[in-house]
Amino acid sequence: MSLPKFEYIKVKSIGEVCEALGKYKRKAKVMAGGTDLLVQMKDRVITPEYVIGLRGVEGLGRVVYDRKEGLKIGAMATHREVINSGVARRRYPSLVEALEKIGTGQVRNMGTIGGNICNAAPSADSAPILIALGAEVRIAGANGEREVLLEKVFRGPRKTVLGADEVLVEIVVPNERVHSGSHYEKLFARTSVDLAAVGAACWLIKDGKSGVIKDIKIVLGAVAPVPMRAKKAERVIKGKVVTEGLIKEAGEVAAGESKPISDIRASEEYRREMVKVMVRRAIKGALGRIA
Ligand SMILES: Cc1cc2nc3c(=O)[nH]c(=O)nc-3n(C[C@H](O)[C@H](O)[C@H](O)COP(=O)(O)OP(=O)(O)OC[C@H]3O[C@@H](n4cnc5c(N)ncnc54)[C@H](O)[C@@H]3O)c2cc1C
Repeated sequence: MSLPKFEYIKVKSIGEVCEALGKYKRKAKVMAGGTDLLVQMKDRVITPEYVIGLRGVEGLGRVVYDRKEGLKIGAMATHREVINSGVARRRYPSLVEALEKIGTGQVRNMGTIGGNICNAAPSADSAPILIALGAEVRIAGANGEREVLLEKVFRGPRKTVLGADEVLVEIVVPNERVHSGSHYEKLFARTSVDLAAVGAACWLIKDGKSGVIKDIKIVLGAVAPVPMRAKKAERVIKGKVVTEGLIKEAGEVAAGESKPISDIRASEEYRREMVKVMVRRAIKGALGRIA
């Protein structure tokens, strides 16, 4: 199917993006790589009258490391650019691995993390690991900028906290802490083109002396309307020296608190069963990463 008619708006700065969004409001959509947006337009899921291209906005594609703040990923940085970033590979290997699991080479070359977040699909692969790592996003609008914890950004399938005149500018991933580790597991049906049927990310931090898990985040993808923290499962592990039994229990508790649905990718029952496995693997993967 061909694209519906729309007017393409070229912009050069975040100020111009916000101005255009303020003017056209819900009639406009911003476009990053277009790998979600153009598909939805072709399928007539959305038919914006105006498409505001972010490509010409300077500085939005940067991936830089700041000793204090951590990894700063511009909203227009593609998955490939983060995967190829030396500092991301060295300091944030679990994020790089998660991005390597997205779609095909072409999709990773075109698609951005900003687009993956703003599209707000429950199966978005960047979301669980970024939430587990404690990422924040910087959002710009007509009234200035605000920072929001990524965990609080998702409101439902294709719904975020971004207002009609707001644009995501940057994702900030805090520095990894000593004795911490993280990992993302993705279950997909056949090939890497498939979206996640279940995703599970884990970040945890251990006490160097006692071996007690001081803090943990377990985040599930594709099993609820939004990427969700499995907080009851976290409580199974937090404050304890981890054992095989506790890891198994955490998987079972996470399955209990997940809210999967049946769709073409997997049934509700299968998803729930697989949450147990994915969570176990995510915890073990994170433990294995502790330096
Ligand atoms: C064949 C194929 C395979 C795929 N496989 C996967 C997969 O395995 N895992 C996965 O997670 N995804 C997958 N996707 C989905 C898609 O590629 C990703 O979600 C991608 O990261 C979207 O980024 P984009 O830059 O193309 O976003 P776009 O399509 O440009 O935008 C997506 C949405 O976000 C909004 N948006 C984009 N940037 C901003 C911004 N800075 N501020 C505010 N709003 C913004 C747009 O208005 C639009 O609503 C796949 C897609 C295809 C076509």
